Amino acid sequence: MEVSASHKLHFSASDSWEPLHGHNWKITIYCQSEELDEDGFVVNFLDIEAAIHDVLDHTDLGDVLDCNPSTENLARWICEHVDKCYRVDVVECSGNEATYEI
Ligand SMILES: [Zn+2]
Repeated sequence: MEVSASHKLHFSASDSWEPLHGHNWKITIYCQSEELDEDGFVVNFLDIEAAIHDVLDHTDLGDVLDCNPSTENLARWICEHVDKCYRVDVVECSGNEATYEI
């Protein structure tokens, strides 16, 4: 999915902030299950959209995540908010991407 959202990063080493800016984040969510449910799903795509896209789109990620909204932390947050998720790939922009996997 794609999410349009802004973030402002804190750099602890210099105790400085990156200016607020936005990205069209490209997010790939991986889920797994030993069996499909009675409707033939691992997870209903609409439930993932509601849990992730509808919560993050057009927000300042700093208002949603309770940590520094880095690409890495965003990938972890998404994984923690999707049932049966085991991996999330997040692309901030070309060359800047992170994978979180449990
Ligand atoms: Zn950024």
